[in-house]
Amino acid sequence: MNQRSKTDRIQNLLKFIDRSPTPFHAVQEMSDTLLDKGFVELKEADAWKLAPNGKYFLTRNDSSLIAFVVGSKPGFKIIGAHTDSPNLRLKPQAGYAKNGYLQLGVEIYGGVLLSTWTDRDLSLAGRVILAGKKNPSTKLIRFEQALLRIPQLAIHLNQDVNKRGLLLNEQIHLPPIFSMQNKSAPDEVLKKMVARELKCKPADIIGLELSLYDTQPGAVAGAEGEFIFSGRLDNLASCHSAMHALTESTQKDPATKVIAFYDHEEVGSKTAQGAGSPFLKDVLERITLNEKREGFLRALANSFFISADMAHAVHPNYSDKHDDQHMPILNGGPVIKSNANQRYATDAVSSVWFESLCKKAGVPVQKFVVRSDLGCGSTIGPITAANLGMRTVDVGNPMLSMHSIREMAGAKDHESMIKVFKQFFHSA
Ligand SMILES: [Zn+2]
Repeated sequence: MNQRSKTDRIQNLLKFIDRSPTPFHAVQEMSDTLLDKGFVELKEADAWKLAPNGKYFLTRNDSSLIAFVVGSKPGFKIIGAHTDSPNLRLKPQAGYAKNGYLQLGVEIYGGVLLSTWTDRDLSLAGRVILAGKKNPSTKLIRFEQALLRIPQLAIHLNQDVNKRGLLLNEQIHLPPIFSMQNKSAPDEVLKKMVARELKCKPADIIGLELSLYDTQPGAVAGAEGEFIFSGRLDNLASCHSAMHALTESTQKDPATKVIAFYDHEEVGSKTAQGAGSPFLKDVLERITLNEKREGFLRALANSFFISADMAHAVHPNYSDKHDDQHMPILNGGPVIKSNANQRYATDAVSSVWFESLCKKAGVPVQKFVVRSDLGCGSTIGPITAANLGMRTVDVGNPMLSMHSIREMAGAKDHESMIKVFKQFFHSA
């Protein structure tokens, strides 16, 4: 691939993330791409008639998505990732007035690096439920302009902040300032704004599910454009690479190729559309519906799951936070993540298998294990492995500032991961 198309690919990734401030938007964006590439949308409630080599996708709650290309033999090649990112979400009755300002009450979703949400040009996005003549309907909304801010206290009023660090009380210090309007009730101001954006009447708005997001678009950065700075790289970068690998894998493969992107990873995955749900298992079973149940179970035994989620690169200012023998660097290639206590599903067999995949794709590979005196994060790998009983490897591209409002990763790594995923979908 030439330099030009590599740059296009990174621009495409940044555009995808900018347009996907919430899992709903990410699923909408990916659905549009899949339709564009000739995939047919299925509904869970309908009867399915799947054609050999047919390309399909379906969504659940508009925030999780599974797409697949039907193979000719029993067995699945699956790449999983998650659509959600830590952020701040509006409370049901969010608006209130204080000291002449209108503010919005927020809840913390997932493991947010809170200090990074201060002093940013924030806006709102999510879904709106509208009253209909018969049934309510849902509309996505994304305000493009900056609307909100969580201002930090001036250093003059918080004099030891640089020594003590920024301490934020979740209830008291996070509500953003939203307006100085004092003619209507605070929630009415919000509803009017939403109505204006959606071109509907405020009275039609019967439900709101809105999150805060940073309006600053993603950027290619570094002396030679070697870095990407953007929100939600964890884990939309993995979704993007798996999507590209599937839609660009034109070569026929005997296995059914699947991508599964779940919501709610950041809060434990135990929801109707999370990795702890039967969503994927149900879909895989329906793909093999022409077989007896034994055919489905044999297909599962003949399958492999790559759980893709971002990994911790070594930070030069905090390198003592890594194990000396396991220090992944940006642009050093995909990282295989292991943990003896099964916070990651990787074992020696799946690790060797992924390494050989990278080798075939001509991509370097790195390894990560957390320091023995630090707790280990987790992801959808162990949850899916337990659900499906399938051989699984946990991998991901290295990054810095994980769970910050604006994260950092290597531009080269993104291309490398797409290559490895394509290799996965192409190798017999
Ligand atoms: Zn993640």
